[in-house]
Amino acid sequence: VTLVLLDVDGTLVDASGAGRWALERAFETVFGAEGISAVTARVRFQGRTDPSIIAEIAARAGIPEARLSESARPFEETYLAFLEERLGRSGGARALPGARDLLAALERGAIPFGLLTGNIERGARLKLLAAGIANRFPAGAYGSDGADRDALGRIARERFESILGRGVPPREVVVVGDSPEDVRAARANGYRSLAVATGWTAAADLEAERPDAVLADLSATGSVLAWIAAGA
Ligand SMILES: [Mg+2]
Repeated sequence: VTLVLLDVDGTLVDASGAGRWALERAFETVFGAEGISAVTARVRFQGRTDPSIIAEIAARAGIPEARLSESARPFEETYLAFLEERLGRSGGARALPGARDLLAALERGAIPFGLLTGNIERGARLKLLAAGIANRFPAGAYGSDGADRDALGRIARERFESILGRGVPPREVVVVGDSPEDVRAARANGYRSLAVATGWTAAADLEAERPDAVLADLSATGSVLAWIAAGA
């Protein structure tokens, strides 16, 4: 049995910039940060965890770390409220090609699967819901668990080990993601990686990270499943 850990943005969901937009509004609302989009324009978002992105924006906007951590709770609530508002608009989010079918097939095959995403947990759930992905993910690891993506990979596997009541060898874990960071986090943990070019990184650039496989998208459900099963 394999464990499949899936990234959210660019892999399962295209939230058409809702996350970035909501973060900007939260910085304006909570910290009175003006001209924040000029700041975020210089920040790389893809493949990173929310806490790491937020810390970089705050640093560039001159918001002291102490002020950021004091306001962590209201900031998160404000971000989630804006995110929900934006995702609720038409065209707010869509499931990427093959995402729904793959999740359905994993469920049918009783293959354990969960999320491995830099989104905070409630943000991930809002995006999936808005994209019409209603699957239950029994466990996973999220940006709300920490800023370091490599560490999140380990946390996700450990959570499944307690759910499944057995050890999960790293080579049984497959990470499905759209960014170089997903591939690197998989390698750092000894997992296999399946890179999909439905996000912000072209297939050729994903190849350069030497994932175990690269696909244009997840639409060939049968071959994706076969590949996942073959390596285990
Ligand atoms: Mg991604």
